[in-house]
Amino acid sequence: MVIRELPRRRALDVPIRPTRAEINIDALRHNLSEVKRAAGPLQILAVVKANAYGHGAVHVARVLQEAGVSFLGVALIEEGVELRNAGITAPIVVMGGSYRSGYGLLVSHRLTPMVFQDEHLRELNAEAVRQKQKVAVHVKLDSGMGRIGASIDELPRLLLSLQGCAHLEMEGFCSQLASADVQNSQQTRDQLAVFRRGLQCVDTAGLKPKWRHLANSAALLGLPEAKVGWDVNLARPGLALYGLRTAEWLGEELLLQPALTWKTGVTHLKTVQAGQKVSYGGTWEAKRQSVIATLPVGYADGYHRSYAGKGYVLIRGVRAPVVGRITMDMCMIDVTDIPHVAMGDDVVLLGTQGKERISAELMAEWAGTIHYEVLCGIGARVPRLAE
Ligand SMILES: *Cc1c(COP(=O)(O)O)cnc(C)c1O
Repeated sequence: MVIRELPRRRALDVPIRPTRAEINIDALRHNLSEVKRAAGPLQILAVVKANAYGHGAVHVARVLQEAGVSFLGVALIEEGVELRNAGITAPIVVMGGSYRSGYGLLVSHRLTPMVFQDEHLRELNAEAVRQKQKVAVHVKLDSGMGRIGASIDELPRLLLSLQGCAHLEMEGFCSQLASADVQNSQQTRDQLAVFRRGLQCVDTAGLKPKWRHLANSAALLGLPEAKVGWDVNLARPGLALYGLRTAEWLGEELLLQPALTWKTGVTHLKTVQAGQKVSYGGTWEAKRQSVIATLPVGYADGYHRSYAGKGYVLIRGVRAPVVGRITMDMCMIDVTDIPHVAMGDDVVLLGTQGKERISAELMAEWAGTIHYEVLCGIGARVPRLAE
């Protein structure tokens, strides 16, 4: 059997159903300036992987490029190519380490990979020779995260291999912290020590990478060691740019503004009698005569099924509970106690309406997950809008 890729789906350009994610560009710019303030002398590699945490990678990348970040960071070659095809010219670091048949694209699209295996160096160098290019790479050390990267023991040999690759230039040296969101973490201290040994290794090899980096948002906001007294000069924030804190204690002194509001509208309104059931399985039953509104958003859009029984939305500035099971494309809310609810009313699923706010942190709590997953989980079917 031959496996071939099926045509990618492309949504209509004009959204018809009212479900959408609105991106506040001013908030993005504001968050970047707050992050820059926190970063002090460090330059910024703005992480826009996973469709910019659900905010729309191309648009976010344009805004951040214009605002003057030094690098953009993505996880996949595919994501980097998408940005290049959209005209993004800023340096782009590919952080995911999954390159396989993509070395040609890395070189042709001027993407800068994190490298940590001999294969990366061999394949990249061969491709660089073929395309008559010099290719910049960032060597990735696994200082204790246990995901990707060369171990501290493998590092000297990897650096030696790199020096044998005439078409590769070591532009960066980096690592990733596993517990930067934990206060006073021993794991972080251990990782910092390994990173420092890594830097010494690089120095001993006579290599002088222009960029040294290990701080994600949590380290940038909570770990002075990741900024000062260290030979680092670049930070890789993601979440903070979108206006969220990795943990509550982090970056309290920064005024971050969530940049995404997830909205929908009312598709159907009805009165049900006491005893009437709502949605699959009949798990919710009206205890009194109730007014139920149907919203055109469901778990296929990333509105998790697990919100049922806990979740609420905002309508006319107040909370309305989600009732019954959340279905693939729709869910129902109880608006009995909210006067004047009408067809076409704006409904906020995530964000602020009037004095009320539903945060990604709260939705994560409903679903037993983290705010990162709530944002990334907003589906491809939901159009992203910005002014
Ligand atoms: C995702 C990622 C980041 C950004 O992390 P945040 O917690 O969103 O700031 C930084 N570095 C690497 C390697 C990443 O994969």
